[in-house]
Amino acid sequence: MALPLLTVDVYALFTKNAKLGSSVAERQKRFQADLDNANRVWKTGFINNGSVQCNIQFVNAGIYNYSDTKTINSETIPYPPFPGDVNSLINQFRARSGIKKRAIFVVYVSGNKFKSGDIGLGGYQFIGSDYWGKVALTNLAADNINKFTFAHEAGHVFGLGHSGLSNNIMNAPVTSSSPLVTTSQCTTARKSKVIRGN
Ligand SMILES: [Zn+2]
Repeated sequence: MALPLLTVDVYALFTKNAKLGSSVAERQKRFQADLDNANRVWKTGFINNGSVQCNIQFVNAGIYNYSDTKTINSETIPYPPFPGDVNSLINQFRARSGIKKRAIFVVYVSGNKFKSGDIGLGGYQFIGSDYWGKVALTNLAADNINKFTFAHEAGHVFGLGHSGLSNNIMNAPVTSSSPLVTTSQCTTARKSKVIRGN
């Protein structure tokens, strides 16, 4: 029997020279691909390969364009800590009226890798009842072989750490082939306060 459907709102924030960010159609395409791939992992699950069907759905809450005004070049940024420039952009965006206070904010940055070698970063933050996920994705995360990077970072947003199993969504680096979610990961993820109604 399927678990009840849960929903997470996701906003995309494109910065200057982020891959596939130069036109509205390109931004839409990259963001939708990340949401679709995350839904394959966290909603449907690759159940034929042993994943659970976790039934967490990521939805497009909006795409915002900072491509003319904001540069965040991953190549110049160490990690940890989570980049201050990414936090600032998310906080600036969250200050706008009408923004959902429980959501994941994905910042598409320029450059191929952070100084740590990471192509994606993910975490969460809260103030009072506001609780939000923060994700940064480099240009390499747009490559097909890295297509589950957002799904992996969403796992960090849900509070999950890394897995040592090569076919697990929380392995680093994440496989490009049918990454799995375990029952225990699904149980943790479904309790996340970033999920609508939690
Ligand atoms: Zn990771």
